[in-house]
Amino acid sequence: MDLKQFVTIVPDWPKPGIQFKDITTLMDNGDAFKYATDQIVEFAQEKKIDKIVGPEARGFIIGCPVAYSLGIGFAPVRKEGKLPRDVVKVEYGLEYGKDVLTMHKDAIRPGERVLITDDLLATGGTIDATIQLVEKLGGVVAGIAFLIELSYLNGRDKLNGYDVIALMKF
Ligand code: AMP
Repeated sequence: MDLKQFVTIVPDWPKPGIQFKDITTLMDNGDAFKYATDQIVEFAQEKKIDKIVGPEARGFIIGCPVAYSLGIGFAPVRKEGKLPRDVVKVEYGLEYGKDVLTMHKDAIRPGERVLITDDLLATGGTIDATIQLVEKLGGVVAGIAFLIELSYLNGRDKLNGYDVIALMKF
């Protein structure tokens, strides 16, 4: 299936010069959403994944159906102040300023094989921070799966040594 036909490209949003890849039109099509999910499920089966981890909010949309399909757990990565119990934190750089991502300390058991999911790989900053959180908790990042990779931003350079798939490349 050619998934790209289901992605809507919105020029100059949220600011001039950005070509926003809107995946809500892919999610709106049950066949396309299922096909995309099944591709990631297959990858997770090959990697013998124990747990899915995804950053808010679109990492949840991609990761949760994969976790459901495999009958395994899902652990959310959230902005600071959103998770109610003890957390680990990682600070990461944004285009302007900094942000903090957190995970519950008991979200990963040491040695668990983790698949990280997100909608889109841009500069790789979000996923780099997510990898650090998983590894701080003793998890093994056995794979990383995206719907979309913006190849021209070279985000993959931050993910050297990890097994990365992207279902679509722009
Ligand atoms: P980054 O940390 O730079 O890899 O950016 C990651 C997040 O920003 C992704 O999870 C996307 O949700 C969002 N994002 C960045 N660029 C775009 C884009 N051109 N279209 C849609 N979402 C984007």
